[in-house]
Amino acid sequence: MDFSLSEDQILMRDTAREFAVKRLAPMAEELDAREEMPAELLKETAELGFFGLLAPEEYGGLASDMLSYALCIEEISRACAGLAITISIHNSLVIKAIEMYGTREQKDEYLPKLATGEIIGAYSLSEPDSGTDAGSLTCQAIGRGDEYVFNGAKSWVSSAAYAGIIVVFALTNPEKGPKGVSAFIVQQGTDGLNLGAPEKKMGIKCSDTREISFMDARVPRANLLGDEDEGFKIALALLDNGRIGVGAQALGIAQAAFDEALKYSKERKQFGKTLSEFQAIQFKLADMATRIDAARLMVYRAAVLKNAEGLHSREVSMAKLVASETANFVANEAVQIHGGYGYVKEYPVERYFRDARVTEIYEGTSEAQRIVISRDLLKG
Ligand SMILES: Cc1cc2nc3c(=O)[nH]c(=O)nc-3n(C[C@H](O)[C@H](O)[C@H](O)COP(=O)(O)OP(=O)(O)OC[C@H]3O[C@@H](n4cnc5c(N)ncnc54)[C@H](O)[C@@H]3O)c2cc1C
Repeated sequence: MDFSLSEDQILMRDTAREFAVKRLAPMAEELDAREEMPAELLKETAELGFFGLLAPEEYGGLASDMLSYALCIEEISRACAGLAITISIHNSLVIKAIEMYGTREQKDEYLPKLATGEIIGAYSLSEPDSGTDAGSLTCQAIGRGDEYVFNGAKSWVSSAAYAGIIVVFALTNPEKGPKGVSAFIVQQGTDGLNLGAPEKKMGIKCSDTREISFMDARVPRANLLGDEDEGFKIALALLDNGRIGVGAQALGIAQAAFDEALKYSKERKQFGKTLSEFQAIQFKLADMATRIDAARLMVYRAAVLKNAEGLHSREVSMAKLVASETANFVANEAVQIHGGYGYVKEYPVERYFRDARVTEIYEGTSEAQRIVISRDLLKG
């Protein structure tokens, strides 16, 4: 498989890298400490086009291929994994949802605003009692005339506070279970839609995450995304895009942690030698670099396959699994190489260690990826 980058892909990657190095890296520590996403930063991100990465050109987007998208998410994650997941969800789970399943009216209404970042998109599948077993969700959207009436709670909604729309999955026909789930575009500010308090998270702290709940919230029938009762299939198909983003995010965190560890190992002296002169540390660095390389090849392969051939759940899950486990391995080793200094906020590896953790949890845990992979291996 050929991974040589086109001129466009190099340009996209370099634009993201420059934004990450010059703008994001200097503020990342403060964003983490303040646990907030400044509106000004979202605006700047929009101006650079990152919210339109996967939006079609006719709606004002960049219509990037999946590899360009992965490259941008990777570069941005090297500086700020919280902003990276905001961009990733917006593109892969919301823009893609409307592009793939939206009506002409829905595309005309929402894609131009999403592509320019005028509004941010969120994706809401999880519930307090329905995570890996996403088909067991209980939030209801019962059809009444021209509307659906929503009741129930959804949890862990990334970007909920600043999202203009949320793609919500709810039961339209509760008696059918997972086969009675539908997808909807729900506007922020809908009467009966309430936002909970922000979650106090371990990492990616600048990204907003909170519960939302519905109490007799009325959503127009025109906001149904795809066919009624098709929602569960839609949710899973979208995650095939999103997991490439999380894989790329994990890669970026791993690379950042490795870079810091390499630098530190050449500076810190013990026993009259730099750490990098000890073979035990050299071998750690070798393992970290090797695993990052393997993860990068898998994420890029998944992106290229996805672009060329559509649904590729096995390869996408393999890439997300390896990249997220690599990010945790590398960040852990980076802390170890820093010794006590890796355990305090003076060095960024402490943040990378915390940020890496969630990549093995959201958009399907590592166990969920293994379920997808083994199911594919054992089918038919
Ligand atoms: C910071 C953050 C942001 C998030 N953002 C979003 C978002 O924007 N939208 C959204 O919809 N969701 C979001 N999520 C939710 C996330 O996708 C879920 O947390 C995840 O799917 C796991 O669900 P759970 O937390 O309920 O864990 P559970 O499903 O309860 O799992 C607990 C443990 O049991 C394991 N397990 C469960 N079932 C099996 C099984 N069959 N075999 C083996 N092991 C199993 C899991 O792998 C895990 O280790 C977010 C989560 C976090 C932490």
